[in-house]
Amino acid sequence: MIICKKPRELHDLLEKKNIGQQEIGFVPTMGALHAGHLSLVDAAKKQNKIVVCSIFVNPTQFNDPQDFKKYPVTLEKDILMFEGAGCDVLFIPSVEDIYPKGTNNLEHYDLGFLETVLEGKFRPGHFQGVCLVMGRLLEIVLPNNLYLGQKDYQQCMVIKKLIELIGSKDKIKVNICPTLREEDGLAMSSRNTRLLPGDRIKAATISKALRYIKENLKAGHTKKIKDEAKELLLQKGFLIDYVEIANADTLELVENWNGKQKIVALAAAFINNVRLIDNMVINT
Ligand code: AMP
Repeated sequence: MIICKKPRELHDLLEKKNIGQQEIGFVPTMGALHAGHLSLVDAAKKQNKIVVCSIFVNPTQFNDPQDFKKYPVTLEKDILMFEGAGCDVLFIPSVEDIYPKGTNNLEHYDLGFLETVLEGKFRPGHFQGVCLVMGRLLEIVLPNNLYLGQKDYQQCMVIKKLIELIGSKDKIKVNICPTLREEDGLAMSSRNTRLLPGDRIKAATISKALRYIKENLKAGHTKKIKDEAKELLLQKGFLIDYVEIANADTLELVENWNGKQKIVALAAAFINNVRLIDNMVINT
Protein backbone atom coordinates (compact mmCIF):
# COMPACT_ATOMS: atom_id res chain seq x y z
CA MET A 1 0.00 0.00 0.00
CA ILE A 2 1.30 3.42 -0.93
CA ILE A 3 0.58 6.31 1.41
CA CYS A 4 0.17 9.77 -0.15
CA LYS A 5 -0.16 12.95 1.84
CA LYS A 6 -0.22 15.55 -0.92
CA PRO A 7 -2.93 15.86 -3.61
CA ARG A 8 -0.25 16.36 -6.28
CA GLU A 9 1.57 13.21 -5.16
CA LEU A 10 -1.65 11.20 -5.40
CA HIS A 11 -2.51 12.66 -8.79
CA ASP A 12 0.96 11.86 -10.21
CA LEU A 13 0.90 8.36 -8.76
CA LEU A 14 -2.47 7.51 -10.31
CA GLU A 15 -1.34 9.00 -13.59
CA LYS A 16 1.85 6.92 -13.53
CA LYS A 17 -0.17 3.79 -12.94
CA ASN A 18 -1.82 4.65 -16.23
CA ILE A 19 -5.27 3.98 -14.90
CA GLY A 20 -7.89 3.64 -17.62
CA GLN A 21 -11.67 3.78 -17.47
CA GLN A 22 -13.72 2.09 -14.74
CA GLU A 23 -10.73 1.31 -12.63
CA ILE A 24 -10.49 3.50 -9.54
CA GLY A 25 -12.67 2.63 -6.55
CA PHE A 26 -12.68 5.20 -3.75
CA VAL A 27 -13.52 4.73 -0.07
CA PRO A 28 -13.48 8.03 1.87
CA THR A 29 -13.36 7.79 5.69
CA MET A 30 -12.60 9.78 8.80
CA GLY A 31 -10.45 6.94 10.16
CA ALA A 32 -10.95 5.15 13.52
CA LEU A 33 -11.67 2.17 11.34
CA HIS A 34 -13.95 -0.77 12.04
CA ALA A 35 -15.23 -3.71 10.02
CA GLY A 36 -17.92 -1.52 8.43
CA HIS A 37 -15.25 0.59 6.73
CA LEU A 38 -13.37 -2.52 5.62
CA SER A 39 -16.53 -3.95 4.04
CA LEU A 40 -16.48 -0.93 1.71
CA VAL A 41 -12.86 -1.70 0.78
CA ASP A 42 -13.89 -5.29 0.09
CA ALA A 43 -16.68 -4.18 -2.23
CA ALA A 44 -14.30 -1.76 -3.99
CA LYS A 45 -11.66 -4.47 -4.47
CA LYS A 46 -14.16 -6.71 -6.23
CA GLN A 47 -15.03 -4.07 -8.83
CA ASN A 48 -11.90 -2.00 -9.48
CA LYS A 49 -8.30 -2.28 -10.51
CA ILE A 50 -7.09 0.24 -7.94
CA VAL A 51 -8.64 0.95 -4.54
CA VAL A 52 -7.95 4.38 -3.08
CA CYS A 53 -8.98 5.06 0.53
CA SER A 54 -8.72 8.30 2.44
CA ILE A 55 -8.55 9.33 6.07
CA PHE A 56 -9.50 12.90 6.80
CA VAL A 57 -11.36 14.16 9.86
CA ASN A 58 -13.17 17.00 8.16
CA PRO A 59 -13.46 20.03 10.44
CA THR A 60 -16.18 21.74 8.36
CA GLN A 61 -18.75 18.98 8.89
CA PHE A 62 -18.71 19.10 12.69
CA ASN A 63 -21.43 21.47 13.82
CA ASP A 64 -20.37 20.74 17.42
CA PRO A 65 -16.72 21.71 18.10
CA GLN A 66 -16.59 19.31 21.08
CA ASP A 67 -17.56 16.41 18.80
CA PHE A 68 -14.67 17.32 16.47
CA LYS A 69 -12.23 17.58 19.38
CA LYS A 70 -13.28 14.21 20.75
CA TYR A 71 -13.40 12.39 17.41
CA PRO A 72 -11.28 9.22 17.84
CA VAL A 73 -7.94 9.14 16.01
CA THR A 74 -6.19 5.76 15.60
CA LEU A 75 -3.97 6.44 12.60
CA GLU A 76 -1.32 3.73 13.03
CA LYS A 77 -3.94 1.03 13.55
CA ASP A 78 -5.95 2.38 10.59
CA ILE A 79 -2.94 2.16 8.27
CA LEU A 80 -2.45 -1.52 9.21
CA MET A 81 -6.16 -2.24 8.80
CA PHE A 82 -6.37 -0.63 5.36
CA GLU A 83 -3.23 -2.46 4.26
CA GLY A 84 -4.62 -5.77 5.55
CA ALA A 85 -7.88 -5.16 3.68
CA GLY A 86 -6.02 -4.72 0.38
CA CYS A 87 -6.20 -0.94 -0.09
CA ASP A 88 -3.71 0.07 -2.81
CA VAL A 89 -3.33 3.77 -2.12
CA LEU A 90 -4.10 5.55 1.14
CA PHE A 91 -4.55 9.31 0.97
CA ILE A 92 -4.06 11.20 4.24
CA PRO A 93 -4.27 14.92 3.44
CA SER A 94 -3.89 17.82 5.86
CA VAL A 95 -6.55 20.48 6.44
CA GLU A 96 -4.45 22.89 4.34
CA ASP A 97 -4.40 20.42 1.43
CA ILE A 98 -8.17 20.07 1.43
CA TYR A 99 -8.89 23.72 2.17
CA PRO A 100 -6.04 25.72 0.59
CA LYS A 101 -8.08 28.93 0.97
CA GLY A 102 -9.00 28.24 4.58
CA THR A 103 -12.31 27.00 5.96
CA ASN A 104 -14.30 30.25 5.86
CA ASN A 105 -16.43 31.72 3.07
CA LEU A 106 -16.40 28.53 1.02
CA GLU A 107 -18.80 27.41 -1.68
CA HIS A 108 -22.45 26.82 -0.77
CA TYR A 109 -24.30 23.86 -2.29
CA ASP A 110 -28.02 23.99 -2.91
CA LEU A 111 -29.17 20.75 -1.32
CA GLY A 112 -32.82 21.86 -1.11
CA PHE A 113 -35.17 19.80 1.05
CA LEU A 114 -32.44 17.33 2.09
CA GLU A 115 -30.81 20.00 4.21
CA THR A 116 -34.00 20.89 6.08
CA VAL A 117 -34.94 17.48 7.42
CA LEU A 118 -33.56 14.91 9.92
CA GLU A 119 -29.73 15.24 10.07
CA GLY A 120 -29.96 18.44 8.03
CA LYS A 121 -32.32 19.96 10.59
CA PHE A 122 -30.51 18.76 13.71
CA ARG A 123 -26.96 19.39 12.48
CA PRO A 124 -27.06 22.78 10.73
CA GLY A 125 -24.18 23.18 8.29
CA HIS A 126 -23.15 19.52 8.55
CA PHE A 127 -24.05 18.57 4.98
CA GLN A 128 -22.42 21.70 3.55
CA GLY A 129 -19.21 20.47 5.21
CA VAL A 130 -19.75 16.97 3.81
CA CYS A 131 -20.17 18.44 0.32
CA LEU A 132 -17.08 20.63 0.66
CA VAL A 133 -14.83 17.72 1.58
CA MET A 134 -16.38 15.27 -0.86
CA GLY A 135 -16.25 17.77 -3.71
CA ARG A 136 -12.56 18.31 -3.06
CA LEU A 137 -11.75 14.60 -2.58
CA LEU A 138 -13.58 13.64 -5.77
CA GLU A 139 -11.72 16.35 -7.68
CA ILE A 140 -8.38 14.97 -6.42
CA VAL A 141 -9.05 11.20 -6.69
CA LEU A 142 -11.26 11.23 -9.82
CA PRO A 143 -12.79 7.83 -9.02
CA ASN A 144 -15.00 5.77 -11.30
CA ASN A 145 -16.71 4.13 -8.33
CA LEU A 146 -17.45 5.64 -4.95
CA TYR A 147 -18.27 3.42 -1.95
CA LEU A 148 -20.52 4.70 0.84
CA GLY A 149 -22.25 3.06 3.79
CA GLN A 150 -26.03 2.87 4.17
CA LYS A 151 -25.39 3.60 7.87
CA ASP A 152 -25.31 7.26 6.79
CA TYR A 153 -28.49 7.06 4.74
CA GLN A 154 -29.08 10.79 4.28
CA GLN A 155 -25.38 11.41 3.62
CA CYS A 156 -25.57 8.97 0.69
CA MET A 157 -28.45 11.01 -0.75
CA VAL A 158 -26.57 14.27 -0.20
CA ILE A 159 -23.44 12.95 -1.93
CA LYS A 160 -25.51 11.71 -4.88
CA LYS A 161 -27.01 15.20 -5.10
CA LEU A 162 -23.52 16.76 -4.91
CA ILE A 163 -22.33 14.54 -7.77
CA GLU A 164 -25.30 15.79 -9.80
CA LEU A 165 -24.56 19.42 -8.88
CA ILE A 166 -20.91 19.17 -9.96
CA GLY A 167 -21.93 17.50 -13.23
CA SER A 168 -20.20 14.17 -12.54
CA LYS A 169 -23.26 11.90 -12.61
CA ASP A 170 -22.06 10.09 -15.72
CA LYS A 171 -18.49 9.72 -14.46
CA ILE A 172 -18.90 8.52 -10.87
CA LYS A 173 -21.05 5.57 -9.85
CA VAL A 174 -22.20 5.60 -6.24
CA ASN A 175 -22.23 2.16 -4.59
CA ILE A 176 -24.11 1.94 -1.30
CA CYS A 177 -23.01 -0.89 0.99
CA PRO A 178 -25.09 -2.45 3.78
CA THR A 179 -24.64 -1.42 7.42
CA LEU A 180 -22.38 -3.76 9.38
CA ARG A 181 -23.58 -4.39 12.92
CA GLU A 182 -22.21 -5.74 16.18
CA GLU A 183 -23.71 -9.01 17.45
CA ASP A 184 -26.33 -7.18 19.52
CA GLY A 185 -27.44 -5.14 16.50
CA LEU A 186 -25.60 -1.89 17.24
CA ALA A 187 -24.47 -0.34 13.95
CA MET A 188 -20.68 -0.18 13.86
CA SER A 189 -19.44 3.38 14.22
CA SER A 190 -16.20 5.10 15.14
CA ARG A 191 -18.14 6.93 17.84
CA ASN A 192 -19.00 3.64 19.59
CA THR A 193 -15.50 3.64 21.10
CA ARG A 194 -16.53 6.69 23.11
CA LEU A 195 -19.38 4.82 24.83
CA LEU A 196 -18.91 3.98 28.51
CA PRO A 197 -19.33 0.22 29.19
CA GLY A 198 -22.87 0.56 30.63
CA ASP A 199 -23.90 2.84 27.76
CA ARG A 200 -22.45 0.43 25.21
CA ILE A 201 -25.00 -2.19 26.33
CA LYS A 202 -27.86 0.31 26.18
CA ALA A 203 -26.71 1.60 22.77
CA ALA A 204 -28.11 -1.47 21.00
CA THR A 205 -31.60 -0.16 21.85
CA ILE A 206 -31.38 2.22 18.90
CA SER A 207 -31.33 -0.67 16.42
CA LYS A 208 -33.93 -2.54 18.52
CA ALA A 209 -36.27 0.46 18.28
CA LEU A 210 -35.86 0.56 14.49
CA ARG A 211 -36.35 -3.18 14.25
CA TYR A 212 -39.51 -2.81 16.34
CA ILE A 213 -40.83 -0.38 13.72
CA LYS A 214 -39.76 -2.61 10.84
CA GLU A 215 -41.51 -5.65 12.32
CA ASN A 216 -44.69 -4.00 13.55
CA LEU A 217 -45.52 -1.16 11.19
CA LYS A 218 -48.86 -1.50 9.43
CA ALA A 219 -50.43 0.70 6.78
CA GLY A 220 -52.00 3.84 8.28
CA HIS A 221 -50.82 6.53 10.68
CA THR A 222 -47.21 6.18 11.79
CA LYS A 223 -47.31 8.32 14.96
CA LYS A 224 -48.19 5.55 17.43
CA ILE A 225 -45.38 3.22 16.41
CA LYS A 226 -42.84 6.06 16.36
CA ASP A 227 -43.93 7.00 19.90
CA GLU A 228 -43.52 3.37 21.01
CA ALA A 229 -40.03 3.23 19.50
CA LYS A 230 -39.15 6.53 21.22
CA GLU A 231 -40.39 5.12 24.52
CA LEU A 232 -37.92 2.20 24.20
CA LEU A 233 -35.10 4.74 23.88
CA LEU A 234 -36.35 7.02 26.65
CA GLN A 235 -36.52 4.06 29.06
CA LYS A 236 -32.77 3.53 28.53
CA GLY A 237 -31.96 7.18 29.12
CA PHE A 238 -31.45 8.32 25.51
CA LEU A 239 -31.96 11.95 24.60
CA ILE A 240 -33.74 11.75 21.25
CA ASP A 241 -33.17 14.04 18.26
CA TYR A 242 -35.63 12.13 16.08
CA VAL A 243 -37.26 8.80 15.32
CA GLU A 244 -38.92 9.14 11.93
CA ILE A 245 -40.36 7.19 9.06
CA ALA A 246 -39.62 8.65 5.64
CA ASN A 247 -39.98 8.02 1.94
CA ALA A 248 -36.88 5.94 1.12
CA ASP A 249 -36.22 7.85 -2.10
CA THR A 250 -36.90 11.45 -1.08
CA LEU A 251 -36.76 11.43 2.76
CA GLU A 252 -40.11 13.20 2.93
CA LEU A 253 -41.63 12.24 6.26
CA VAL A 254 -44.48 9.73 6.04
CA GLU A 255 -47.29 10.38 8.53
CA ASN A 256 -49.78 8.05 6.89
CA TRP A 257 -48.32 5.01 5.12
CA ASN A 258 -50.21 3.41 2.24
CA GLY A 259 -48.55 0.06 2.90
CA LYS A 260 -46.77 0.00 -0.45
CA GLN A 261 -44.54 3.05 -0.68
CA LYS A 262 -40.88 2.23 -0.02
CA ILE A 263 -39.99 3.70 3.36
CA VAL A 264 -37.11 3.87 5.81
CA ALA A 265 -37.06 4.31 9.59
CA LEU A 266 -34.31 6.59 10.86
CA ALA A 267 -33.20 7.56 14.35
CA ALA A 268 -30.67 9.83 16.00
CA ALA A 269 -30.22 9.98 19.76
CA PHE A 270 -27.64 10.80 22.39
CA ILE A 271 -26.51 8.53 25.13
CA ASN A 272 -24.40 10.56 27.57
CA ASN A 273 -23.14 13.04 24.96
CA VAL A 274 -22.39 10.40 22.33
CA ARG A 275 -24.70 10.91 19.35
CA LEU A 276 -25.65 7.75 17.49
CA ILE A 277 -27.58 7.40 14.24
CA ASP A 278 -29.05 4.38 12.52
CA ASN A 279 -31.67 3.46 9.94
CA MET A 280 -33.55 0.48 8.55
CA VAL A 281 -35.32 0.19 5.24
CA ILE A 282 -38.77 -1.19 6.07
CA ASN A 283 -39.79 -2.76 2.77
CA THR A 284 -37.45 -3.57 -0.08
P1 AMP B 1 -16.88 7.69 8.49
O1 AMP B 1 -15.46 7.32 8.74
O2 AMP B 1 -17.77 7.57 9.67
O3 AMP B 1 -17.01 9.00 7.77
O4 AMP B 1 -17.42 6.61 7.48
C1 AMP B 1 -16.80 6.36 6.24
C2 AMP B 1 -17.71 5.52 5.39
O5 AMP B 1 -17.97 4.28 6.06
C3 AMP B 1 -19.07 6.18 5.16
O6 AMP B 1 -19.48 5.95 3.82
C4 AMP B 1 -19.95 5.46 6.14
O7 AMP B 1 -21.32 5.45 5.76
C5 AMP B 1 -19.35 4.06 6.11
N1 AMP B 1 -19.74 3.34 7.33
C6 AMP B 1 -19.70 3.80 8.60
N2 AMP B 1 -20.18 2.87 9.44
C7 AMP B 1 -20.53 1.80 8.70
C8 AMP B 1 -21.10 0.52 8.99
N3 AMP B 1 -21.42 0.16 10.23
N4 AMP B 1 -21.32 -0.34 7.96
C9 AMP B 1 -21.01 0.02 6.69
N5 AMP B 1 -20.48 1.21 6.34
C10 AMP B 1 -20.25 2.09 7.33
